[in-house]
Amino acid sequence: MHGFSYKNGSLFCENIDLSTLVAEHGTPLYVYSAGTILDHYTRLDAALGSTDHEVAYAVKANSNLSVLRLLASHGAGFDIVSGGELFRVIKAGGDPAHCTFAGVGKTRDEIVYALQQGIYSFNVESEEELRYLNQVAGELGMIAPAAVRVNPNVDAKTHKYISTGKSENKFGVDFGAISDLYERAAKELKNIKLRGLQMHIGSQLTSIAPFIEAVEKVIPLVTELKARHGIEFWSIGGGIGIIYQESLKSGNADWWASQPENERPLTIEQYGKELVPRLKDLGLKILLEPGRYIVGNAGVLLTKCLYEKKGSAKTFKIVDAGMNDLIRPALYEGHHEIVPLVEPSSTERIKVDVVGPICESGDFFCQDRLLPDFNPGDYIALMSAGAYGFAMASNYNSRPLPAEILVEGGNATVIRKRQTLEDLIEGEH
Ligand SMILES: *Cc1c(COP(=O)(O)O)cnc(C)c1O
Repeated sequence: MHGFSYKNGSLFCENIDLSTLVAEHGTPLYVYSAGTILDHYTRLDAALGSTDHEVAYAVKANSNLSVLRLLASHGAGFDIVSGGELFRVIKAGGDPAHCTFAGVGKTRDEIVYALQQGIYSFNVESEEELRYLNQVAGELGMIAPAAVRVNPNVDAKTHKYISTGKSENKFGVDFGAISDLYERAAKELKNIKLRGLQMHIGSQLTSIAPFIEAVEKVIPLVTELKARHGIEFWSIGGGIGIIYQESLKSGNADWWASQPENERPLTIEQYGKELVPRLKDLGLKILLEPGRYIVGNAGVLLTKCLYEKKGSAKTFKIVDAGMNDLIRPALYEGHHEIVPLVEPSSTERIKVDVVGPICESGDFFCQDRLLPDFNPGDYIALMSAGAYGFAMASNYNSRPLPAEILVEGGNATVIRKRQTLEDLIEGEH
């Protein structure tokens, strides 16, 4: 479900006409629906039912302070991957005691900062890192709470750049090596408290099978670790996929039911129904680390068509957003549905490439796609851009970062102002 739909021929976010936002704030412009973010968060929380659990939102998907504050105020914890993300969470009123810290390359400064802030767990990705964490904690006279990330060697069947749970990925420790590692750590690493076990097999998973496979594979291991070392939590990671192909229609509850049964994408209710019975009697707190599921369909990137260029082989619609604003198509072959802000009156479609102004051939939002026609001066929305959108934006080609807006019902608030030319050179001389 999401808060974007046409009303009287105009694309709305909740009760705000997006055409009014582009008129006032310009483009490129990110717009998020607070109602959608909270709907996703509460539905995931509800899907886990009475199982002891906590949702630790993966900050890297969208780290705007207002988004973090919205989730913190509804009780979310946070999964962070850098000291910078911890700083953001604290600034947004989040509680470090509900933060887990993931990532293969934590620096000394980041470890010290997170220890001093009292995070819930360091999710460690190698024995070397665990030993270093032990050393730094010792120097500070502190005990570091830790979980090791197990790599269950399960194929998440997603894009190769967002698959993380296979043996050839850089993430985690081999399944078969975990048990001995916990034994050694318990014996030798006096400044480590083994608090849990973590896994995360990949991102944008749209079927339940890999989740079930990974959970079933790891249950005996986590049961053994609880018995031997008294661990208290198991983080089963994030990775729940969202609908990109028919994003706009998928906001309507009837859409899912209208899909052929064997093609219905994973729903959060199905995720809960399949996993809860397997998890609820382990006597462990279950942590979830969703990023994309919470914010992905809750955001759009609005952009204006600048030119139409008819080449001999193709028609290009050149827009004022580029790969620096939204890199997913270039980086992961990511698909974003493209819809005009004014609802098309005809069903006619033309084949176009929608491209940005950046000096790279990879700077496109679609290629050879059938779209309703639109003209220079018209506005379009790139749907499902709430996750890994602004968070991955850069100043490449010296383009100021776009503004971000949060819509709550009939209110639209600027939650990050558009960068100015002066912002571009700040800190340089
Ligand atoms: C990126 C990441 C997540 C979130 O992934 P989504 O696909 O956005 O849900 C969760 N946990 C870890 C360790 C990650 O690196």
